[in-house]
Amino acid sequence: RKLGYAIVGLGGYGLGIIIPQFKNCQHSKLVAVVSGDPVKAKKVAAEYGVPETGIYDYNNYDSIKNNPDIDIVYVCLPVSMHAEYTIRAAKAGKHVLCEKPMALSSAECESMIAACKQAGKKLMIGYRCHFEPYNLEARRRARAGEIGKLRYFRSEHGFNFNNPTAWRLKKAMSGGGSLMDMGIYALQAARYMTAEEPISVYARETTDKSDPRFREVEDMIEFQLEFPSGVIASCMSMYSANQNHILLMGDKGRIELEPGTSYNGNRLWVGNGRSNEITPPPGPGATQWAGQLDHMAQCVIQDRQPIVAGEEGLRDMRIIEAIYKSAREQKRIALR
Ligand code: NAD
Repeated sequence: RKLGYAIVGLGGYGLGIIIPQFKNCQHSKLVAVVSGDPVKAKKVAAEYGVPETGIYDYNNYDSIKNNPDIDIVYVCLPVSMHAEYTIRAAKAGKHVLCEKPMALSSAECESMIAACKQAGKKLMIGYRCHFEPYNLEARRRARAGEIGKLRYFRSEHGFNFNNPTAWRLKKAMSGGGSLMDMGIYALQAARYMTAEEPISVYARETTDKSDPRFREVEDMIEFQLEFPSGVIASCMSMYSANQNHILLMGDKGRIELEPGTSYNGNRLWVGNGRSNEITPPPGPGATQWAGQLDHMAQCVIQDRQPIVAGEEGLRDMRIIEAIYKSAREQKRIALR
């Protein structure tokens, strides 16, 4: 059985990455699109077999409630729109898959969780790495003790941002700079690789404020997470250089991914150095996105909680708020 998805936001991710993935899915199909651009919406609908009745804009969005073909709404909009479009979807009686970062603030995350709960609908966050074979294999090997006792974790994530007018550089739309967009991958990896929750953060921001890209948001932010076992995670994100790396150091060896969280081409080494490259077994879906889309559909069909539910996005947002506070106040912030 295939459940019907409505994709909200036909931008780089929604249209460029997600929509072409339905062909790889077993339990998910595209039945509707929501866009402010009627010409684009019509073209995309025609290309992907979405009926005219499945085309919506941001004004008539709430009328998705009258379309029984739509089971799940996938929010692929700028971060400032995540809360509104998630809550409106829940009120229209639809389950929601919402992109990362979940929202502008933990308060917004809480209201999204509450709205979905009240409507009796599921809420999942688009943390695709939980369906990505290299990350799953690295995590499995770390948990199986292949590198002994984990002592230290490192991750750097970033890219050289070259579009100065993008919404990602406008604080009101993005909530912040590289941390919200890319540092969240390092934060997520620190949590899912260690299987622990951090007890404190310490962060430092380095931004060239004379660079026109960074008038409103941070460029580089380094943050340290301290875990109950004593593991330290040292993470960094930036908008001024390309980085995509995850490293776990145990007392018996290392697990390293580079790139670690890319769309394609991730690589994994286990042991000492990079002599032993691993090809992981297939993940849960034909691609990480198919795995993600089908996981949500199956959670709805089987009435299960998604493995990356709204609460997971909220946890990250609380830590991100503490990271920003630490950088601002230049002191260690205890969590919980
Ligand atoms: P984008 O700018 O390419 O697309 C955003 C879409 O929202 C566009 O279609 C745009 O027209 C629409 N939109 C509607 N109202 C808008 C407004 N007021 N201002 C700007 N755009 C508006 O962005 P994107 O890269 O597709 O990102 C969308 C979401 O997906 C973000 O939350 C982002 O973090 C997330 N994302 C996730 C991944 C991932 O790997 N999980 C990758 C890329 C993006």
